[in-house]
Amino acid sequence: MASVTRWLGMQFRRFGPAKEQVSVIGQGTWYLDPGSRASVVTALRQGLDFGMRHIDTAELYGDGEAERIVGDAIAGRRDEVFLVSKVLPRNATRLGTIAACERSLARLRTDHLDCYLLHWRGPYPLEETIAGFEQLVFRGKIHHWGVSNFDVPDLEEALSIAGPDQITCDQVLYHLQERAIEHAVLPWCLRHGVAIVAYSPFGHGHFPSSHTRGGRLLEQIAEAHNATPRQVALAFLVCRDLLFAIPKASNPEHTAENAGAGNLRLSDEELLKIDRAFPVGPPRRELPML
Ligand code: NAP
Repeated sequence: MASVTRWLGMQFRRFGPAKEQVSVIGQGTWYLDPGSRASVVTALRQGLDFGMRHIDTAELYGDGEAERIVGDAIAGRRDEVFLVSKVLPRNATRLGTIAACERSLARLRTDHLDCYLLHWRGPYPLEETIAGFEQLVFRGKIHHWGVSNFDVPDLEEALSIAGPDQITCDQVLYHLQERAIEHAVLPWCLRHGVAIVAYSPFGHGHFPSSHTRGGRLLEQIAEAHNATPRQVALAFLVCRDLLFAIPKASNPEHTAENAGAGNLRLSDEELLKIDRAFPVGPPRRELPML
């Protein structure tokens, strides 16, 4: 059985244009089970102990309940966390963005977010949402803002409105079996210094099984590092500067395992083998995975 003690060396890196150093592995909160609240809070707090300081949530998740659970988990530990939440597109007018953020802050029981994202492109002009973000920065309610599920044309539009070094991150679907962002979104973000946050890094529960060629390769590489296949997958996803991943785990054992990817470095040869076993598929339109 692989070691879960690698967390002692969690890597941190600059989060795009933000000056903060953020753990390469963070914690997602979609589909947290409110029925197992105590164990979920324990898992999140243990994740913080293990160095997974980036917690991702959204007003959407559990209709605000995920933010309340995160509020419990970070109580008394706010300074340790790089806290991210998201505004729903239907709320993302200038005033709506500000009001949604206030509601999220109340549920999270904090006075600021480290980063606030537009969850995906919606009906309102981007100028409106960005004006809301800028007001929130001005008032100290958020330190940075970013986007999610943005394709290159959306990113170009946001850049033309906000100017350089303002878009902190694009949070996008990225896992071994879904690497479409590598066609255009990833190169664009690397060129403009925007952090990429890989959501659903385990395919939202569809992780390659050991019955597949790719799954067996992950096992072989894991064995060589006294690691697990999931740790290898996460290490692949964050192998470059500006890349981060936010697996969700409500089971404390899973949290410990995921944190173990935070200092796992794969060789060029291993990265190449994984690259060949999980080829980049055709381009796709960035859409929220709902
Ligand atoms: P995911 O992280 O790919 O997979 C979560 C599933 O994997 C859960 O069933 C979890 O089980 C299991 N798991 C986690 N660690 C494990 C381990 N070490 N061993 C075995 N199973 C493990 O899926 P996700 O929740 O879709 O994505 C992660 C986060 O990204 C979300 O929670 C959310 O914060 C964010 N997200 C953002 C968007 C967006 O549109 N911006 C969309 C989707 C997701 P347990 O819970 O039982 O531990």
